Amino acid sequence: MGRIFLVLVLLAVSLYIVKYLRTKLDKPPEALKKDDQLNQNSDENKMVKCLHCGLHIPENEAIKQGDKVFCSLEHAQREL
Ligand SMILES: [Zn+2]
Repeated sequence: MGRIFLVLVLLAVSLYIVKYLRTKLDKPPEALKKDDQLNQNSDENKMVKCLHCGLHIPENEAIKQGDKVFCSLEHAQREL
């Protein structure tokens, strides 16, 4: 009886490890794809205009000083 119990425990542990490895391998690529799609959408939707030179740039690359938006730190410093 002891050996059968040991075999069952080993089977359960190996099955758990296989399941754990599968979820660990499967999840990261899916999460990365979703993040990329979200980032691309936000880039396309939000373009902002530099107050100093009028250049249009993605909002996530813009320098923000309160309500004012600039394309670079240099332009932000010139306006403020
Ligand atoms: Zn600018």
